[in-house]
Amino acid sequence: MQQAVNQSRRNLFRGRINRVGGIRPPWSLPENKFLDTCVRCNDCIDACETNLLKKGDGGYPIADFSQAECTFCEACVKSCSPKALLKTDSQQKPWNITATINDRCLAKNKVHCRTCGEQCEVEAITFRLAPGGVALPNLDTDLCNGCGACVSSCPVSAVAMKLSTEQP
Ligand code: SF4
Ligand code: SF4
Ligand code: SF4
Repeated sequence: MQQAVNQSRRNLFRGRINRVGGIRPPWSLPENKFLDTCVRCNDCIDACETNLLKKGDGGYPIADFSQAECTFCEACVKSCSPKALLKTDSQQKPWNITATINDRCLAKNKVHCRTCGEQCEVEAITFRLAPGGVALPNLDTDLCNGCGACVSSCPVSAVAMKLSTEQP
């Protein structure tokens, strides 16, 4: 019975991930293993120096980029005793997410703005002059590390984070 309840909760949560794009903390296990391993203790949320991590559906942690970014400090990973967050080698990427810029972007609407690019330490967002004199942002997803610094900086909420590959 408990197994059925757990499965139902997992299915519900998976559905919500797909609908609203909830993103797990960096270095999370693949989703099914994450849900089996995370004990919803909040230790990663408390450890996060930028308050990026929040309680999501079912009490499981998610990354909320609306007001914060990830500095990749690894405090969350170190705080996770059950190892639902696990970094096994120094080259392991924290996650498969990248920024995306939608059509609300001021520059795409012919208003000068380079705010997101100014936040990007790895220079994944560059600007190219377009006909009409306003430079348009170009996002290099290979360079983007998914820190999310560009998201809250956008004055018209045109930047969001998305999974660059489907979560397992
Ligand atoms: S790596 Fe640091 S900043 Fe990023 S989510 Fe973990 S604790 Fe927060
Ligand atoms: S510290 Fe680990 S077990 Fe606790 S809520 Fe965060 S991911 Fe889950
Ligand atoms: S998420 Fe970070 S690395 Fe990616 S474009 Fe935005 S600021 Fe740059």
